[in-house]
Amino acid sequence: MIFKNAKINAFRTWGLLLTMLGMGLMVLGTAGIVFWGQAGKVFAGVGLVFGLIMMMGSLAIYFWAGMLSTNAVQIQCPECDKLTKMLGKTDRCMFCHTILTLDPNQANITAEELESQKSTT
Ligand SMILES: [Zn+2]
Repeated sequence: MIFKNAKINAFRTWGLLLTMLGMGLMVLGTAGIVFWGQAGKVFAGVGLVFGLIMMMGSLAIYFWAGMLSTNAVQIQCPECDKLTKMLGKTDRCMFCHTILTLDPNQANITAEELESQKSTT
């Protein structure tokens, strides 16, 4: 996990980033026409197409996150006592980012051990 965050929150972050990037590309592409005239039109076309693809990608990520969150397990976090949602066997609390697990074998290892386990498997 690049952001030390709950998986659902991470999906939302990526979705938002892609939307911003897509919009940025579209604006940049349109600005290309203003600055470079005829030559900028090619740049604008590429920018608009890639921007649109990124926006659609972010829409798919949002949709996927929504689907995932409907079948996520809702549990009460032992650290902050708030209700959080978990994806898979291990995930982080949405509020205090404590690592939570449903797997008893991993329940007592540290965060560093968990991260190294993830990278090897
Ligand atoms: Zn918590």
